[in-house]
Amino acid sequence: MSARPALKIILVGPPGAGKGTVAKGLVDRFGLTHLSTGDMLRAAAKAGTPVGLLAKGFMDKGALVPDDVMVKLISERVQAADCRNADGSPRFLLDGFPRTLPQADALASEGLAPDLVVYLDVPDDAVVRRLCGRRTCPACGNVHHVEFAPPVQPGLCDRCGGALVHRSDDQPETIRKRLAAFAAQTAPLVQRYGAVIEKVDGNQPPEAVLKASVQVVRARGVPTIG
Ligand SMILES: [Zn+2]
Repeated sequence: MSARPALKIILVGPPGAGKGTVAKGLVDRFGLTHLSTGDMLRAAAKAGTPVGLLAKGFMDKGALVPDDVMVKLISERVQAADCRNADGSPRFLLDGFPRTLPQADALASEGLAPDLVVYLDVPDDAVVRRLCGRRTCPACGNVHHVEFAPPVQPGLCDRCGGALVHRSDDQPETIRKRLAAFAAQTAPLVQRYGAVIEKVDGNQPPEAVLKASVQVVRARGVPTIG
């Protein structure tokens, strides 16, 4: 293992794996900047940078932002001081990208191949149980869970009293389809990143998943802060 701490970190996991919690925890513990593709796209479009406007053109048409545009956007974003070590080397936690081998290639061609890939491993059945129980409030966006975060009054949002719905995204068939797509896309990535990938058991309480994730980052020689 090299002495240089792994600081280009990529977070991978199926929908419902709890990536949000892990990302936030890793950011807090290691002082990393969290880069999610959605946030970067929105920020660049708002800031009106050339790449941002290019990306916005695709989004306004409801089209997917092409890989080369997305990589340019990431490459531009990681120039910022909050994504750099004191010696100028990059440090970030990238979430939601790459999802495919061509995207991984494009990222590598910008010198941004990851030093560490944290892979949240959750069995399909556990994901289905987590996502299928979600009940969303269309009025305020609040999310309950029939098992893990039930509303005080069945079917009604705790925050605003609105009627909760079971979104089509959270129906078992839809979830299984998304999981199958994720598995098909991710298998070649797992192979590509073999040497730097660390699987974390994501089928445990959020605190335990975070703890295990912190351990794999710390094991690469990255000091925690605070
Ligand atoms: Zn509500």
